[in-house]
Amino acid sequence: MVKKIIFIVVLSISFLISCTTIQDPLTGKPTLTLLSTQQEIEIGQKVVPQAINENDGLYPDKEVQDYIKNLGYKIASQSPRQVNYQFYLVNSKDVNAFALPGGPVFVNRGLVLILDNESELAGVIAHEVGHITARHHAKFLEKTYGMNILLNILAIATSNSQYQQIIMQLAQVSAGLLQLKYSRDQENEADALGVRFTYEAGYDPRGLISTFEKFKSMEKVQAPKWLLTHPLPEDRIKNVSHLIQTKYPDKLLLKKDSEEFHLIKKKLISTSASYEAVENAKENIKNKNFSVALTNLNKAISIYPDNNAAYTYRALVYYNLREYQKAYIDSIKAYNLDKSYFLPRLILGASLVKLNQYREAVFVLEDAKKLIDSQPDLYYYLGVAYQELGNKSAAVENLKTALSLTDGRRGWEGDAKQRLKNLGII
Ligand SMILES: [Zn+2]
Repeated sequence: MVKKIIFIVVLSISFLISCTTIQDPLTGKPTLTLLSTQQEIEIGQKVVPQAINENDGLYPDKEVQDYIKNLGYKIASQSPRQVNYQFYLVNSKDVNAFALPGGPVFVNRGLVLILDNESELAGVIAHEVGHITARHHAKFLEKTYGMNILLNILAIATSNSQYQQIIMQLAQVSAGLLQLKYSRDQENEADALGVRFTYEAGYDPRGLISTFEKFKSMEKVQAPKWLLTHPLPEDRIKNVSHLIQTKYPDKLLLKKDSEEFHLIKKKLISTSASYEAVENAKENIKNKNFSVALTNLNKAISIYPDNNAAYTYRALVYYNLREYQKAYIDSIKAYNLDKSYFLPRLILGASLVKLNQYREAVFVLEDAKKLIDSQPDLYYYLGVAYQELGNKSAAVENLKTALSLTDGRRGWEGDAKQRLKNLGII
């Protein structure tokens, strides 16, 4: 009881401290906020591995990543809000780009494939930097989640019961951020900032308009994913055109394109058949058609031997076929190609459990937990490994967490309960 009261007092004090005044990045005026800039950055950082994992990992080519980073920094350096900007190209086929609080910006492989020049890509990136500059994520977090939840997920968990609650809250906040829908006003604000940053960075701001036009024409066939989170009413195109005509005179030397953009796009085109084969395999896996999935993944790897997503899904197929040694080898390959990708680490850890290499499994899975700590399978395999190593308290803790996080359809729930029974818990 006393412990609980102390906990509440500590929370209220931190709540008071956390109401800070910051300088509004756009107007320069002091504004009262709940989240400090540092807290906003920390929350964004916690969601980065989730964003990478949900988009099939980072595109495994340093030259491509460097290109996106350089272009991103060029644009972000025009923002009056200097936070922890980061730029990633993720493997997803979806035509989409998105941002997280405090700086991370993700561009999907599928988006670059439909763009025709560098100013179009600059426009989309600048629009996302606009959302970060105007603190749209922070405003969403402040409005949607109680400050206690936000402080909780920034705190280091102290007791096990509290820890379970915190990881569930973090999962909730991550999902909210990854599907965040902005308001019409926020979109207009991000558009205006996007135009300003591209122009100030020396790019032709009309790139944003031609990108919008592409989205519009795609909508009739298959709406790009970007439209799910960024509604595109006709008047956005009009507003941006009007803004450019009135405020941003056509300067000489505005950059429209670069050779580098086309080199990068050529690379992406040369690997796109490989990624299409991975997409087909993902469908096969969903339908438990593992032999066809294997054929598709072998094809994906033969076209692009660095395809981290292909090794990851092939490891998953081998795991499902109970070929654990092969699952182990492929997940190591994927891990070596992309250390920020959670799924290959999980499959590697699970394969090690199946191969009775419990010490190595604990090492791999505890490390994976640092990337994403709300994944139920991770706790189940950790629980099993700890139990086999004779670490009773760690086994109980992880199995309980696994059961508290599961949707009930993971397939191991019965075994987890039986293990807890054997450990004398239930
Ligand atoms: Zn937007």
